[in-house]
Amino acid sequence: MMEQYIEIKAANPDCLLFYRMGDFYELFFEDAVDAARALGITLTKRGQHLGQAIEMCGVPVHAADDYLQKLIQLGFRVAVCEQVEDPAEAKKRGGKSVVRRDVVRLVTPGTLTEDKLLSPSQSNHLMALARIRGGEEAQFGLAWIDISTGSFRVAESRPARVLADIMRVEPSEIILADSLFEDPEAKPLIEQLGQRAVPQPQVLFDSSCAESRICRYFAVASLEGYGNFSRAELAAAAAALAYVEKTQFNERPPLEVPLREEDGASLFIDPATRANLELSRTLAGERQGSLLKAIDRTVTGGGGRKLCEWLMSPLTDPEEINSRLDAVAWLIRESRLCEDVRTALRRLADMPRALSRLAMNRGGPRDLSALRDGARAAEVVAALFAERETPELIKEALAAIAAFPDELRALLADCLSDEVPLLKREGGFVRHGHAAELDELRALRDESRRVIAGLQLSYAEDTGVRSLKIKHNNVLGYFIEVTAANAAPLQEGETARGRFIHRQTMANALRFTTTELSDLETRIANAADQALRIELGLFEDMVLCAVGAAPAIKAAAEALAVIDVYAALAVLAEEQGYARPRVDDSMAFEIVGGRHPVVEQALRRQAAQPFVANDCDLSPPGEGVTPSPATGSGAEQAGAIWLLTGPNMGGKSTFLRQNALIAIMAQMGSFVPAGAAHIGVVDRLFSRVGASDDLARGRSTFMVEMVETAAILNLATARSLVILDEIGRGTATFDGLSIAWAAVEHLHEVNRCRSLFATHFHELTALADKLDRLANVTMKVKEWKGDVVFLHEVAPGAADRSYGIQVARLAGLPEAVVTRARDVLAQLESSERDNPALTLVDDLPLFAAHLKSAQAKPSETSALPPELAARLAELHPDDLSPRQALEALYEIKRLA
Ligand code: ADP
Repeated sequence: MMEQYIEIKAANPDCLLFYRMGDFYELFFEDAVDAARALGITLTKRGQHLGQAIEMCGVPVHAADDYLQKLIQLGFRVAVCEQVEDPAEAKKRGGKSVVRRDVVRLVTPGTLTEDKLLSPSQSNHLMALARIRGGEEAQFGLAWIDISTGSFRVAESRPARVLADIMRVEPSEIILADSLFEDPEAKPLIEQLGQRAVPQPQVLFDSSCAESRICRYFAVASLEGYGNFSRAELAAAAAALAYVEKTQFNERPPLEVPLREEDGASLFIDPATRANLELSRTLAGERQGSLLKAIDRTVTGGGGRKLCEWLMSPLTDPEEINSRLDAVAWLIRESRLCEDVRTALRRLADMPRALSRLAMNRGGPRDLSALRDGARAAEVVAALFAERETPELIKEALAAIAAFPDELRALLADCLSDEVPLLKREGGFVRHGHAAELDELRALRDESRRVIAGLQLSYAEDTGVRSLKIKHNNVLGYFIEVTAANAAPLQEGETARGRFIHRQTMANALRFTTTELSDLETRIANAADQALRIELGLFEDMVLCAVGAAPAIKAAAEALAVIDVYAALAVLAEEQGYARPRVDDSMAFEIVGGRHPVVEQALRRQAAQPFVANDCDLSPPGEGVTPSPATGSGAEQAGAIWLLTGPNMGGKSTFLRQNALIAIMAQMGSFVPAGAAHIGVVDRLFSRVGASDDLARGRSTFMVEMVETAAILNLATARSLVILDEIGRGTATFDGLSIAWAAVEHLHEVNRCRSLFATHFHELTALADKLDRLANVTMKVKEWKGDVVFLHEVAPGAADRSYGIQVARLAGLPEAVVTRARDVLAQLESSERDNPALTLVDDLPLFAAHLKSAQAKPSETSALPPELAARLAELHPDDLSPRQALEALYEIKRLA
């Protein structure tokens, strides 16, 4: 057996090998050590191999899913090795033959199908990335498959945007040709993909026979009817298919024919922006706190996945966007219907996932009942909409729902019991009354059980042993058991009912049988066997019927998911008071009373101050919410830039992000958190917000900031929306100011895109005199008893001060440091700007004096001459202009 194990393990060196032995999967050697540590299970030793004890551990087969889930999450891959013949067969071959075993499946993060291993509202994508050389620039082909639902997409990409295109899909596993792992050019990309990148033999990605390999999988003669695929796309699609075959062995998931995603059909969002805006997860990697979590009101797994897909790929075609908005608006008006639809959808099971499991021979009766219940829910939903004049997209969805195959619906309704067991192996899922023969056999089986009960009674009477029992176990089958003390009457030979035949002697019991009992047993076993055979036959019939109708089932499921999303967006809009955005191909970007969807909900939950709504208008002059005379396609026009100043904590980042989020929500087809919004579609969204350290890759914060800024200035078009937060902060003041200054000029003159620019450099506000589409706005604050109060209100104009020291004080900086900082600030502001630090160095003793006095008694300055102390006490540095401060300083110097 060890020989067999070692051979199989050698063929799967990169996987933990789950080696089936009876009711357990056993792991050996290093696999056992790794798994025992990862799973917290006991490591044991057994036997010897090359003079060493063999380490082993095991997991019970019935609980294997839980352990698999943990291992996959920890980044392991698992090869599942099963017994592929009946142990009886092996025995026939000769005394010491080992049962034949084979790997039947590789479990990897991207190829999961079990509900336990998947999250209901998250897709699970396997992606193949192919690189094709030729021409000036390498081309990338991307193909991604969710084998749990069968969806299959391809797209093309270029080196500059490939990471963004990958991140849009959030694959959990990415396969690439092993040669790329040695290619210095591909190194940065592979590093960024991290643990998810899995090397695969180059031949999988060979583009020369890719098309024929795909055709073979789908049993079609040509792909022409399905789209115009590039060489890179074909190579990636063929590699993805090959990997599915490699991991699933003989089982074929019911995949859709690959669907090509057009370049530019969705809003391009670069990876940094995606991460910073916390679309599907927060920077810490959590779902909680993300935009998706805040806006998700779907009630089905399929709906949840669809909403995520829409959020990750907002549209760019105003017509398509408006069609979605029409559907949402209609459901808002029909709120009663909307609620009824959601109630019906709540009972919908996950049909695509059930179907995939059935097709891959991993399904059970519950997967069939999922299809039956899905078909019922579909009928209810369709009936709710009957006779209504619905918007186009809902009409399309209803057509797909109506196409649910009647034959399957009828078969499942007729054949499956209301409540079905999890596993098919013991039967019990076929409805009574469906198959006459089955019902007869079941009756016989049940009847026989009654006969046995009668037999026990009469044996007890005949022998006078009241405690006589007829029992059953897997070794003996049915037997009669009496205690040793009561055995005598049964051992006396013939009785009225024939002979008792001795079978077994236990410590204090004896076991017997009779001819009558074994006849009965045979009848029961036969009936049960036959019944099970019939049930399993019917199971196969239903699976065949379902798999044969896979495309129609999936189309119906997809349509139900889409309806779930529209209804969810309608509920969200109502509940949160969102408005329908006006979306067109103008260059407008006018938000009236915009709010941050996540912060607003968080503030409400904390019952804190309500969110302060703010306007934003980056439209070229003449475009906005108020209808304007046609201004052409807008392509010639340039967007405005808002330069936002204000103290830390004033709400700048929130304002910047909320406008980006509003654009994304509008373009995915959702109502938006605003009083009104007019958005000319955005083609690309860029942001540079927050400091994302990348120190692990040896890049400083400043370097990362500059790399990201460079990408924005290089890639933003006039149609783009750019959000920049505090560019140039990570370097010396004048350097930083100069970089920020030049970046604003570039945005205004070259990119000409709609932009929001938040900055601490108040000097930048002077640009408004020079750049005609640049406007200064500021976060309003109020001062109150020396503290700042943030009003979170965006108003025209520039901030006069940063209030950094007040904010620091709020943060709990020691009072002595705050006081000293005020002094330093006053001096800096009054001194010559060329080298203010010199004055400060001279001044160090003052610092010591301050510290001393602060430690002694912070409020008293009695060490100072009384006149000076009095003057100091009435000074409020924050209220002084630089000039007044300078005068005050002279005065103080004189008094001291
Ligand atoms: P900044 O970027 O200027 O430092 P933030 O945008 O991080 O400020 O905002 C600081 C805090 O102020 C946020 O955590 C949020 O709770 C609150 N806040 C921001 N904007 C608003 C608003 N419009 N209404 C209410 N609270 C807000």
